[in-house]
Amino acid sequence: MSWFRNRYLSPWKPVNSLDSRLWKKIHSVALLVKSNFTFQISRGCNFSMNWDPWCNGNSLMDFLPSYKFEKKFVNCYTNSSGWALPSSTPLALRFELSGINFAEQPATAWDGSVSPTFATFYLSYFKHLVEVNWHSFLWHKRYSLRYSAYAWMAVLGKLKTVDQLRLRGIDIPAVCYFCDSGNECHSHLFFGCDYSFTVICTLLPELGAFLMRPNLMQTYDYFGSSSHLPNWEKYLCFLVINCTIYFVWRERNTRRFDNVWKSPIEIVAYIRHALLAKVKNWKNFNDLKGRFELDSQLNFTSYRSVW
Ligand SMILES: [Zn+2]
Repeated sequence: MSWFRNRYLSPWKPVNSLDSRLWKKIHSVALLVKSNFTFQISRGCNFSMNWDPWCNGNSLMDFLPSYKFEKKFVNCYTNSSGWALPSSTPLALRFELSGINFAEQPATAWDGSVSPTFATFYLSYFKHLVEVNWHSFLWHKRYSLRYSAYAWMAVLGKLKTVDQLRLRGIDIPAVCYFCDSGNECHSHLFFGCDYSFTVICTLLPELGAFLMRPNLMQTYDYFGSSSHLPNWEKYLCFLVINCTIYFVWRERNTRRFDNVWKSPIEIVAYIRHALLAKVKNWKNFNDLKGRFELDSQLNFTSYRSVW
C-alpha cells in the first residue's frame, strides 16, 4: 500500500496527464466502487486527509471543494486529544469532523468485510445481473470450461445453427445434417434429433423414460432436481450433457465443412474418452465407477472395450 501512498496519495485523487494508464484505470474504478468502501480512521493513520472517503463515505473535498488541507495525511492533523486542525479550517468542515470517531487501529472494509475474499468482489461486481436458474448446470464445481462454454451458447440459442444463419440472410438448406428430415435449430439438435438423442440416451439411459423427447432444459432439470443423486453425481450428469453438446456440435461442423461423418456410437466413444479424462481425477472416481457399472448409466466396462 505504501508505494501508491507515496506516489499517488489516494486512488480518489484526480489524475493528471502524466499518470500511467494503469493508474488512470484504477482511479476510474475507484470512483465506481467508492460506495463499497468503509473507512475507519485512527489518530495515527495515513489515509489521505483530502481524498480518501473516510468521512461518512465521502472525502473532505466532496464536502468543501474550495478548501484543501496542505498536509497529506490524517495523522498530520491529530494529536492525543483528537483533531489538531489549523485555524483556517472552515466551520463547515470542523462540524463534519467533530462527528467522526477515532478507532484504535485504522481499517478499510469492502461491503462491511475487513478481510474480503475473491468471492466477495466477484459477487459484488456481478450483483446487477439477474441470477438465472440454470447457471448451476453449466458452472458447477466440476465444470469444464470448453464444454460449459458451448453448452452456455446452446442454452442461450447462440450457436450458429441453420435457422440462425437464415435469419441473417444466408441462404443455406434448412435440413438437419444428421437426420436429413428435421430442420436444424437448437431445439432440434438438443435433443429432438434422432442422432443427438441416440447419443445422449446411450450415455444417460434414464432419459429414455421420457414420453416425449426432452429439450435441453428438461434434460438438465431431470438430473438437477433429482432428490436421490448426490451432488458429485449431478456434476457428472451435467458434464455428460455439456460434453455431448460440444461433440454433437463439432460433429455437425465436420459434416458440414469437411464432409466427414461419424456414427452415434463413434461420438459416444469420443465423449466417454473425454469424460474419463476429466472424471478420473475426481475424489469419488472409484464410487462413480462402482455406481455406474451397477446402473450401466455411464458404462465404463464398455468404455474399456472401446479403448
Ligand atoms: Zn436431425
